[in-house]
Amino acid sequence: MLPVIALVGRPNVGKSTLFNRFTRTRDALVADLPGLTRDRQYGHATLNDHPFIIIDTGGITGGEVGVDGLMAEQSMQAVRESDITLFIVSARDGLTPVDESIAQQLRSENKSVHLVVNKIDGMDQNTVLADFYALGFQSVSAIAAAHGRGVGKLIENVIFPAANISLHEASELQSESENENTADTGSAESADLPTEIAPSDDDALVAEESEHGPKLAIIGRPNVGKSTLVNRLLGEERVVVYDMPGTTRDSIYIDMQRRNKKYTLIDTAGVRKRGKVNEAVEKFSVLKTLQAINDANVVVMIFDAREGITEQDLNLLGFAIEAGRSLVLAVNKWDNLPEDKRIDVKEAISRRLYFADFARLKFISALHGTNVGHLWDAVDEAYAGARVKMTSSKLTRLLEMIVAKHQPPAGGRFKIKLRYAHPGGHNPPRIVIHGNQTTSLPNSYIRYLEKSFREALKIVGTPIKFELKESV
Ligand code: GDP
Ligand code: GDP
Repeated sequence: MLPVIALVGRPNVGKSTLFNRFTRTRDALVADLPGLTRDRQYGHATLNDHPFIIIDTGGITGGEVGVDGLMAEQSMQAVRESDITLFIVSARDGLTPVDESIAQQLRSENKSVHLVVNKIDGMDQNTVLADFYALGFQSVSAIAAAHGRGVGKLIENVIFPAANISLHEASELQSESENENTADTGSAESADLPTEIAPSDDDALVAEESEHGPKLAIIGRPNVGKSTLVNRLLGEERVVVYDMPGTTRDSIYIDMQRRNKKYTLIDTAGVRKRGKVNEAVEKFSVLKTLQAINDANVVVMIFDAREGITEQDLNLLGFAIEAGRSLVLAVNKWDNLPEDKRIDVKEAISRRLYFADFARLKFISALHGTNVGHLWDAVDEAYAGARVKMTSSKLTRLLEMIVAKHQPPAGGRFKIKLRYAHPGGHNPPRIVIHGNQTTSLPNSYIRYLEKSFREALKIVGTPIKFELKESV
């Protein structure tokens, strides 16, 4: 499970500013799913190679009615979902009665809370902090979120020590690559390279296999048909179901077999409720979905053909791609859809989902089972992509051929040279390329590299991450 950090405090104290600094806005994959999480925004962030989830909240005003009351409830919900709460106050405003009342509420939640005094720029830190020590928190940090001051320390001193247990559990997860090169493969030139390269076993990086088989996260907005699909996937199969400890944070993990192959379904809809006790379980939770994505080998993302491709769909898909998971897309409720609607949906897909065009797309009916068999094929294929065997010799030979076909463009004063490649990890597959002036390599060339490696290694449904290294 990824550690979860919640930001709470009054409006205008700088929560969003801090949120954007953590998520570095470039990956502002903020899942804001209307109607469910109005005032909670979820971001994916990575610090020193450790991924975590950060929740921003609308703010607590001290008013308890109407919108203000809802906002406060959303904030407390975020606190309950989190491992660490950062309680943000403003040095400019000094200690206010609302801060005091928030502090009291937080104490009653019995959570790990750290006080963060923001906007200390141009202020006398000691004087300001003295004021806030009255709130009685053990851990107090002073920052200027807008300028980044103190944020590094906050991360080191507060987030990492406290998150150690979760981080340890998450350590096998891959860190984010700095190269945003998997997002768009649409315009890359095609490379027709030989796909038969003699493998050498010397340094093969082999992904470990779980005895439960690949984990498939079934994700999508509410009502797209996740539960129906999970039931369909399980329907004809003999399954062994085991529930994970049940809190609203957890998805349900279902062990199953199909054609003598093992899989674990991660059911984010939580349909396989048994008995009344679980009935109250929140049917949709962004956090649950994000955790499921991170824990999965293959993400099966469901769209609703009747709704088309929505902003929320794109947000969720963005998360899955950012996490580097293998991906299969399914457009559900294709049954009885009028022809003109089908054309509309296909048009919307090619226009809005181009950044996921490495993934197979299936039109299905979970209700009737149409095409669900093909979905399984796509899942197997995507999982194979994440586990493809890569060796340094193979990758370097491919690199030489790919470069021979199209030289990198001249990069400033010095020539860009790509010398050799080696595997850097699995899930997602990571290729490390060494050379000179590699940082000058334009995105279009990185896309060409990705497309070429993808074709040569026959990787479908899995993003490939590149790390470019300067060799000495
Ligand atoms: P939120 O409502 O708590 O999310 O607050 P915002 O992040 O929207 O910030 C409210 C205002 O405070 C904005 O005008 C920010 O530019 C400003 N602000 C945020 N951080 C700082 C800071 O470190 N120093 C100063 N001086 N202003 C800040
Ligand atoms: P979830 O919230 O994503 O788990 O969605 P559900 O599985 O609960 O489905 C929401 C609604 O869509 C239910 O009324 C289902 O019967 C319906 N539904 C699900 N799949 C299909 C499908 O393939 N075709 C049609 N026509 N309806 C479907």
